[in-house]
Amino acid sequence: MPSHHHFSTRYLSAPDVIDMVQRKGVEACLRGVADYLHADFLRWGAFDKSARVASHSRDGVIELMPIADDRTYAFKYVNGHPKNTRWGLSTVMAFGVLADVATGAPLLLSELTLTTALRTAAMSAVAARAMARPGSRTMALIGNGAQSEFQALAFHHLLGIDTLRLFDTDPAATAKLQANLQGTGLRTVVCTSTAEAARGADIVTTVTADKTNATILTPDMLAPGMHINAVGGDCPGKTELHADVLRQAQVFVEYAPQTRIEGDIQQLPADFAVTELWEVLAGQHTGRASDAAVTVFDSVGFALEDFSALRFLRDTATELGIGQPIELIPELSDPKNLFGLLRTRNPLLRAAA
Ligand code: NAD
Repeated sequence: MPSHHHFSTRYLSAPDVIDMVQRKGVEACLRGVADYLHADFLRWGAFDKSARVASHSRDGVIELMPIADDRTYAFKYVNGHPKNTRWGLSTVMAFGVLADVATGAPLLLSELTLTTALRTAAMSAVAARAMARPGSRTMALIGNGAQSEFQALAFHHLLGIDTLRLFDTDPAATAKLQANLQGTGLRTVVCTSTAEAARGADIVTTVTADKTNATILTPDMLAPGMHINAVGGDCPGKTELHADVLRQAQVFVEYAPQTRIEGDIQQLPADFAVTELWEVLAGQHTGRASDAAVTVFDSVGFALEDFSALRFLRDTATELGIGQPIELIPELSDPKNLFGLLRTRNPLLRAAA
């Protein structure tokens, strides 16, 4: 045993992660996170899993999302407040930690707001690769807020989507999305309703924010062979799909115990049949049953996705030399003498002297 065992926590700020994504490129980051996600989902049995802990309030939710394997522990703090954009704040804000299971030492403290958008889009694309009809080229994108560009680019790069049919109740959000997608090679068609956007689409992504049981997608909008990537229904009382859409489809979820509480399937009885995504990725369950089947990925966001994203951030930060060591945990020459720290001069004051 070393007598003086010290470590440092690496801090990745939001500007650090912006720098990382700009240096690697959005496409490389989406592909990188998708690879880490896929690899971790194949190790499903190795993780200590639980549904996230949610604190609900009138206008939103704050959640803690923990997960661990035998070496690494991770958690994310994340909120969901659909009215926030009215006050100039993001609907979703997040940060998280990677820690060493052997000692409990926190190794990485990182921004996860931007990263959540990347990992959610990468997860949607990984799921769609296993469920959507091969050759899908057109996607309806309903809800054109903060997550939408990431969804658009993940489906463009990882699935070959070349045309987007856009709808948002806020035309300014659609205009922003269209402007941000210029030069990406994606063709965009602005629509005046969800029904119009869904017409002729191979894939429909719903990524709206409203704290209500919405019916964004109704059965009359379905076409044989459609894949639905339902991202915005992720909280009790906050759904996007009409219950009959789910009843007519094959439904895939991340982690069933959590999705039954939070996903669109919260509208259905607890024994409604669903398949966990990892089973399909591991080849233990077939994905889409036929060309004509309608498939739904009832996404809510699971802690394993943030574990994978944090691993990607750690490895990429190391590769590019991004981030700063921070003194989150006090350094002690005698770990039993914590009080002794208070008897020496504060190192911050020492530095200022
Ligand atoms: P945002 O507030 O930036 O954007 C949401 C957009 O939806 C807004 O532009 C709003 O005008 C639009 N909208 C609301 N109601 C609509 C309707 N009936 N029809 C069409 N458009 C409508 O939010 P965001 O950060 O983009 O997040 C979108 C949703 O995704 C949220 O509900 C969030 O909780 C959820 N989310 C899920 C995951 C996951 O892993 N499943 C991860 C991140 C965010």
